[in-house]
Amino acid sequence: MPQPTLPARFAGDPAPLGVDLHMHSTASDGALAPAEVAALCAARGVRLMALTDHDTVAGVAEAGEAASRLGVSLLPAVELSTRWQGIGIHVVGLLPQGVRGALGAGLEAQAVARAARAEEIAARLERVGLDDALARAREQAGPHRPLGRPDFARALVAAGLVPDVGTAFRKHLGSGKAGDVKAHWPALAEVVGWVIEAGGVAVLAHPLRYGLTRRKRGQLLDDFAAAGGQAAELVSGFQNADVTRDLARQLGERELHASLGSDFHFPGGHLAPGSMSPPPRTAVPPVWTHPRLAGFVAAGCDAPASGAL
Ligand code: AMP
Ligand code: MN
Ligand code: MN
Ligand code: MN
Repeated sequence: MPQPTLPARFAGDPAPLGVDLHMHSTASDGALAPAEVAALCAARGVRLMALTDHDTVAGVAEAGEAASRLGVSLLPAVELSTRWQGIGIHVVGLLPQGVRGALGAGLEAQAVARAARAEEIAARLERVGLDDALARAREQAGPHRPLGRPDFARALVAAGLVPDVGTAFRKHLGSGKAGDVKAHWPALAEVVGWVIEAGGVAVLAHPLRYGLTRRKRGQLLDDFAAAGGQAAELVSGFQNADVTRDLARQLGERELHASLGSDFHFPGGHLAPGSMSPPPRTAVPPVWTHPRLAGFVAAGCDAPASGAL
């Protein structure tokens, strides 16, 4: 299906670009099935999408089939959990060639790590009064998806230990709290290596969401770029325009490309596919102009993804 080409530069146009390269489905902690996410993208005018479930590509094939029926281009992708200086950092892998090389074993290891981490989180939450924490989290998640902190948050709410999910994160699961278990995740640089070896583009996810000072964020971007990371999310959902311009400066200094996404998880909140602050006018190039993506995106993402998903 012919589509208007995506801009080669961010010109500061306030109109939505119709691009969302960060969204979740029931394959991880999202509420909608992969095909439903693609359908919502089509309905909302998103023409280039990436499904970025946590540590799994299990939803990508279904989303891709639905997207192609609906005339939406889909980049195979994943959001990988990593560790950097004791902080949990997320890396989006945009994967025009699918899963290849060390990324395949890497994803298997992430699934094992996530399961082991869930047991550790459960043990810690039992100490604050959530009996049978693992079974309760599984009850929230249903039988299929890998467990994440949101499942434990909902279990804490269901048990009446906290009033809502926000409080569950603030008291028990958020950064630095007992249930924030990161030791199982591989180092940032290793995960970036998996994505690069797979022919993909490694994108530092939501750099403004880690509670870092500007200086520390600069160190993170330095280490990410030194590991071979090629891009960062300049826009993640809604954010302050001055902060975005400052982040663009930090990306420009390191010659990183700029990605954008909503980090959509469920309908009914303030975020939806394609909803995010408009990127400012900047010389930082959009990630879809990266040499590893440009041809694939220009072909409507229809080039054969030689790797398995
Ligand atoms: P996990 O991948 O298991 O570490 O879980 C991380 C996920 O928890 C994030 O991707 C968000 O979807 C969710 N999350 C993190 N912080 C919060 C919060 N304060 N409130 C609600 N959900 C959160
Ligand atoms: Mn999530
Ligand atoms: Mn994330
Ligand atoms: Mn995410």
